[in-house]
Amino acid sequence: THFGFRDVPIAEKQHLVGQVFTSVARNYDLMNDLMSFGVHRLWKRFFVATSGVRAGDRVLDLAGGTGDIAALLLPVVGATGQIVIGDINAAMLRVGRDRLLDRGLLQGLAFQQMNAEALPFADASFDAVTIAFGLRNVTDKDAALREMRRVLKPGGRALVLEFSRVTQDWLRPLYDLHSFKVLPRLGRLFAHDADSYQYLAESIRKHPDQATLKAMMENAGLESVSVHNLSAGIVAIHRGYKL
Ligand code: SAM
Repeated sequence: THFGFRDVPIAEKQHLVGQVFTSVARNYDLMNDLMSFGVHRLWKRFFVATSGVRAGDRVLDLAGGTGDIAALLLPVVGATGQIVIGDINAAMLRVGRDRLLDRGLLQGLAFQQMNAEALPFADASFDAVTIAFGLRNVTDKDAALREMRRVLKPGGRALVLEFSRVTQDWLRPLYDLHSFKVLPRLGRLFAHDADSYQYLAESIRKHPDQATLKAMMENAGLESVSVHNLSAGIVAIHRGYKL
C-alpha cells in the first residue's frame, strides 16, 4: 500500500497510521516555524490577545484543525465558555484533538467536521467566529464570510488571520525570494514535498489583499470592518461585527 505496511495486523496498522499523522503534524509545526522564523506563534498569540473574546464566550474556530488557536482561546473563555473547532478535514481534526489531549486541554472543547461554506449551526449561535490561515483555502470565500456572520449573535465578531499583501516596497523582493526560492527548498528538505510549498506561496499571492478582503466582509454584511497589519502586512487581522 501507500504506506508500505500491507500485511501488518490491524492494531499495529492503526498504530502506524497514527504515527504517520503524528509525523505530519510535527512536520506541520516545524515547517510553520521554518517558514515564518517562528513568528507564526506570535501572530496567533496577538490574534487571540486582541480578539476581544471574553470569559464565558462561545467561540467557533473555523479551519481550526491543528488546535493552535483553540489552545490559546481556552484560557480566555474559561470554564464557563465553550469553543467549537470546525475543520473540513477529519485527519486534521484528529491531529488537533490528540495534541490538545496531550496537553490536557479538552475541557470546554468540541471538535466537529464541517465546511466553512455551509455551517451546521443555527443563526446567532456564537459570540465570536475565528479563522486563522484558513480562509485562503476555502473555495467560496464569500459564502464562508456570510456564514460566519449568520451564526454570530448580534454584537458578535468575525476575526480573520491570514496572509495578506506586504505594505513595504523594499520588503517585497526579499519576501518573494523567501516564498518562491527558499520555501520550496525548505519543503523539499524537511517535508520531502516541494510542490505543496510552491502551492502555498502561490495561494498566498492569489489571496485577496487587505482592502479587497475588507470589502468582501462588508459585502457579507459585516460592519465596522477594520484591518490590522502584522509584520508589514505579511499577515493581517480583519475584524468585523454583526450589528
Ligand atoms: N487554523 C490552523 C492554524 O492556524 O494553524 C490551521 C490552518 S491550516 C493551514 C488550514 C486548515 O483549513 C486545514 O486544516 C484545512 O483542512 C482547513 N480547511 C480548508 N478548507 C476548509 C473549509 N472549506 N472549511 C473548513 N475548513 C477548511
